[in-house]
Amino acid sequence: MKVTEHIERAKGETLFSFEIIPPVKGRSIKELYDNIDPLMEFKPPFIDVTTSREEYVYIDRDGLLDKKLTRMRPGTVGICASIKHKYDVDTIPHVLCGGFTKEETEYLLVDCHYLGIDNIMALRGDAMKGEQYFEPTKGGHKYASELVSQIRNLNSGQYLHEVIETDNCSDFCIGVAGYPEKHMEAPSMKTDLKWLKKKVDLGAQYIVTQMFFDNQKYFDFVTAAREAGIDVPIIPGIKPIAVKRHLQLLPQVFRIDLPQDLIEEVEKCRNNTAIRQVGIEWAIAQSKELKDAGAPVLHYYSMGKSDNIREIAKAIF
Ligand code: FAD
Repeated sequence: MKVTEHIERAKGETLFSFEIIPPVKGRSIKELYDNIDPLMEFKPPFIDVTTSREEYVYIDRDGLLDKKLTRMRPGTVGICASIKHKYDVDTIPHVLCGGFTKEETEYLLVDCHYLGIDNIMALRGDAMKGEQYFEPTKGGHKYASELVSQIRNLNSGQYLHEVIETDNCSDFCIGVAGYPEKHMEAPSMKTDLKWLKKKVDLGAQYIVTQMFFDNQKYFDFVTAAREAGIDVPIIPGIKPIAVKRHLQLLPQVFRIDLPQDLIEEVEKCRNNTAIRQVGIEWAIAQSKELKDAGAPVLHYYSMGKSDNIREIAKAIF
């Protein structure tokens, strides 16, 4: 079922969902199941599965380093299929512009359609590791809005190189990313919202936000988005702080601010167990306020570990 249908059916009740990361190549999918199992009692209507960018690795061949391009965490669509089958839950693959030609994207979307996947999260992807800026793949898309158009076209039988008249068209519901603290490359919030609106105008049906730690940022973002004419559901993304390193890492990677009170609480902690607890309590407070304000879904970034998400879900759902 589509995310928008889940939201409609909930009739104003806030839903629980989360995002998982495919295991590193060679690891078992069982580890993933072990982290999903404890969250299923909170009845997520859908689970997102991320896609990682490809990266360069250097292979030592008799003293000479061979540079190769590889994807460390492949398997997004396969994982979506296996989780959907095992738990009877909707799964949402993150489909990226970066690293894929338009043709490869078409084949991936066809696979998703065969697998009964109803939703696609359409994203540009970040710059590759070690590169400062996002470089579009040759033959691929430059912006997520172009990917949204490709998916919309496919929904009406318009493949890249032919129009196929069929009663078996896909009908993907399309999600896109939004940034309460502005995307790092956007020159202003207003410009970022202009491009977000373009994604919606081209067919995106819901937005999931980047993580934020100050709810006011989300509330202001929703207000600004509505004023800009964006009327689709805006799902807040929540990440509990788990280790001290997050104080530097999260602002650096995601260009977000951390509230001073949160920083001070983390700095008081003597070990990571205490920090994890601070993260849980902060996320519970955020979640309560967002739920009271009528957020359609609370979407948690699990980063592969579910014990803290479970504690939060227990307090909220
Ligand atoms: P876009 O919407 O294309 O925007 C990128 C930038 O270009 C923005 O600054 C925007 O303002 C600007 N822009 C957009 N259109 C135009 C235009 N026509 N002309 C000029 N400027 C324009 N990354 C991954 O690699 N894998 C994932 O699984 C993943 N999941 C994510 C899930 C969520 C909920 C979020 C919020 C992010 C996720 N990301 C993921 C990160 C995402 O790929 C990056 O934030 C990326 O830098 C931007 O992606 P986007 O889809 O927002 O890009």
